[in-house]
Amino acid sequence: MNKKTVRDIDVKGKRVLVRVDFNVPLDKKTGVITDDTRIRAALPTIQYLVDHGARVILCSHLGRPKGQVKEGLRLTPVAVHLGKLLGQPVLKTDDCVGPEVEAAVAALGNGDVLLLENLRFHAEEEANAPAFARQLAGLADVYVNDAFGTAHRAHASTEGVARYLPAVAGFLMEKEIDYLGRAVENPEHPYIAIIGGAKISGKIEVLENLLGKVDALLIGGGMANTFLKAQGFYVGDSLVEDDKLDLAREILSRGQNKLHLPQDVVVADAFDANAKRQVVDVLAVPEGWRIMDIGPKTLAAFEQVLRPARTVVWNGPMGVFEFPTFAAGTQRMAELLAHLDAVTIIGGGDSAAAVAQIGLEAEMSHISTGGGASLEFLEGKVLPGVAALLDK
Ligand code: ADP
Ligand code: MG
Repeated sequence: MNKKTVRDIDVKGKRVLVRVDFNVPLDKKTGVITDDTRIRAALPTIQYLVDHGARVILCSHLGRPKGQVKEGLRLTPVAVHLGKLLGQPVLKTDDCVGPEVEAAVAALGNGDVLLLENLRFHAEEEANAPAFARQLAGLADVYVNDAFGTAHRAHASTEGVARYLPAVAGFLMEKEIDYLGRAVENPEHPYIAIIGGAKISGKIEVLENLLGKVDALLIGGGMANTFLKAQGFYVGDSLVEDDKLDLAREILSRGQNKLHLPQDVVVADAFDANAKRQVVDVLAVPEGWRIMDIGPKTLAAFEQVLRPARTVVWNGPMGVFEFPTFAAGTQRMAELLAHLDAVTIIGGGDSAAAVAQIGLEAEMSHISTGGGASLEFLEGKVLPGVAALLDK
């Protein structure tokens, strides 16, 4: 990676402002953290800073308070949980800027950890207001960005502060950039992408960028329906984007021998976990039924293409994996990837959730913690939160 990291700076005794992604899911009723993956993902950087005698000031957003204080979106439960994971108390302020925060920072000793309140309680955070960014920056001597999941947004805490402080990457950020960067810039071939999920829209630029780089592109999930319809197949009541048929045709003609679409599919008589199911050829989708997953013939064909792969990027489930009856395609795909002798990179929130649900997380080379950010990376875009960091 061509960006400086925490290893490249002296942090002992320094006040280090660390942007982390603690935007964790909370139980709506109890406020309990239901998945602490994002907190755990930031531990290596936090622990490193603690061990090297830094005064650690963590900041994050949580949910969408839209510039107002929302009691249910305070980071207090996160501070408590982080304290348990670190095995040391984590101090917490009720705001992220202002005199109370400045006093708390001034009282920090080497190796102490403080978590600031939800950044998005201030509208200036998302607006990337310079005065707010300067206030945040004023709390610290150096800035570390470890929030890859928000790096595609130019907010005060992800981009603005970097104008006022020396800015470097944390270990999570470094790992994300290393893996995703390799896939985008110099993948080992054969390089194969698997794209699925609900829709084409939102992934058009990913499809177009990857098409120019990969040796093969496998398409599954709901997005395959639009491609199938564009080729003249009848898709019944399947999720289809009729306004994307021309685009699908264009991608099909550009992709030619690189594109692989489903040959058979699992159809349901309703969009329901308990719907009737059957496997049919793509030529034989019954009237009133809908495509919910890829079929076994398709999986076998995809497996053939994948076998020699050295680099694989997967974004988007192969079917409606939330319903166990229609999860087989996604499950089998995860198993195929787990057995490949290749660098396997998973991007996308639902794709990561699917791999976790199947229990194959440890078998993948890299599962990106950033849904939108990983997509923009795969589109070939420069993320503002990454661009703002110091070059090596
Ligand atoms: P990611 O978050 O990994 O980028 P997406 O958000 O694009 O993935 O898509 C995930 C969603 O796509 C899942 O909720 C899944 O149920 C849905 N999906 C996959 N296949 C189909 C299908 N055939 N019909 C309808 N929805 C589908
Ligand atoms: Mg998603």
